[in-house]
Amino acid sequence: ATPTALMVGTGRGAQLGILIKGPEVLESTRRVDTVVLDKTGTVTTGQMTLYDVYATDDTDEKEVLRYAGALEHSSEHPIARAIAQGAAERTGELPVPESFLALPGRGVEGVVEGHEVFVGRGVELPAALATAKEAAEAEGRTAVVVAWDGTARGVLTVADAVKETSAEAVSLLRGLGLRPVLLTGDNRAVAESVAAKVGIAAEDVHAEVLPEDKVDVVKRLQAEGRSVAMVGDGVNDAAALATADLGLAMGTGTDAAIEASDLTLVRGDLRVAADAIRLSRRTLATIK
Ligand code: ADP
Ligand code: MG
Repeated sequence: ATPTALMVGTGRGAQLGILIKGPEVLESTRRVDTVVLDKTGTVTTGQMTLYDVYATDDTDEKEVLRYAGALEHSSEHPIARAIAQGAAERTGELPVPESFLALPGRGVEGVVEGHEVFVGRGVELPAALATAKEAAEAEGRTAVVVAWDGTARGVLTVADAVKETSAEAVSLLRGLGLRPVLLTGDNRAVAESVAAKVGIAAEDVHAEVLPEDKVDVVKRLQAEGRSVAMVGDGVNDAAALATADLGLAMGTGTDAAIEASDLTLVRGDLRVAADAIRLSRRTLATIK
């Protein structure tokens, strides 16, 4: 390849807000036909807000908030931030947990005021809470279970907004002949609600995927003969970003995602992913 043309491509990339790890990166975009989009923080803002609080009949809603908030205070997950902040606003000062453990893709657990508390997903719920959870998810909110001493006591719902630019970005990527796919650890109902808002078909939604399994979704698409670009922002996206034929990190995301990627979209605007692919195709055409 002509180094000069590649350098020009790299310089133009910087103007557009695309940081390119090396000029050779542009070559890997040539065949890309599928673009896997992480949901939280990539298609959505990642800034979550706490909405509803549900508790079982014999549980005080304030206790649900205090215990959940106390644990989530120690986690950096966007869901955790929403819960810790919302709980502090609604109940005042939060207790300091005696122990704390993050369970990536699942939640957090620890001891608060002598109780074994869990906040996250994958817990059997009594009927009243199950109904509340399903209703929230149908509206696109993520429902998080709060349990202590072995019993589910409450459900908290959180949600973040789809970025204003995401629907346009998906249609731009489609216009370049790419097939957009949504990938998330979040619940299927929530994922499909976000997918519908940006124009991704339900059949192209991979939901409830654990952090360690995100990379397998990329590998499976590659095994089907597809050339895959992946866009993500989280620590949980790093392996998938590194495995994809082209990894694109949100500049607003974590260092782990940026380090694992070939390109960084400086402003975290998904439309720039389309610019990046268009630019590299054009640069390569110049070389030919
Ligand atoms: P995503 O792929 O959307 O970035 P994650 O893989 O980080 O999501 O998390 C998947 C799911 O695990 C979340 O939707 C949530 O249900 C649960 N979860 C993860 N971390 C936490 C936490 N700190 N508190 C509560 N729930 C959590
Ligand atoms: Mg994310």
